[in-house]
Amino acid sequence: MNTFLYDKIFIVLPGYTIPDQELTCALEDANDESDIKITKRPSLDEVYREAQGAFHTSGLMPSRPREEKVARLGIAWFTDELGRKHIRIASDMKKVKFHESNIIWPNMPAAQLVYPKLQWIEGRNQMTCDCGRQGSLGELKWNGIKCHECQENDRYAQETGFEKYIPTRFPRRKG
Ligand SMILES: [Zn+2]
Repeated sequence: MNTFLYDKIFIVLPGYTIPDQELTCALEDANDESDIKITKRPSLDEVYREAQGAFHTSGLMPSRPREEKVARLGIAWFTDELGRKHIRIASDMKKVKFHESNIIWPNMPAAQLVYPKLQWIEGRNQMTCDCGRQGSLGELKWNGIKCHECQENDRYAQETGFEKYIPTRFPRRKG
């Protein structure tokens, strides 16, 4: 997936919402770079109501034959087995001609739009952390970036000034 001007993942428990100013930031980041701006602020009602989904909006299509900078915004979300909602908000600017697509999201399931690294393995979505641990988002207590073990190691390093040594990555010696 390309690099967006605004790109954040929020993990929210039922009943909680994203700060309003985050959507404002996402719109401004795209609109500031664009000729054709998003003028209608999308509602997040559906995000809080539905377990998963995705939608997108953009500035109006250019009517002239030359390229114009169009602002684009995408929101995708899904719910993990702990009931936490993972919501990704992304926006960017794309130079498009009137016949070109200005849809920000590729055609993918919502969970993969939020986390392109999620893989469907053995009948469920699984994430692989940079440390090599693999599991569902609930099992890993995924925080949007890393697994629980890595979060704990970060906390340990911050509190003590020492990084934990984890001797698990060496191949076993033969003989
Ligand atoms: Zn990890």
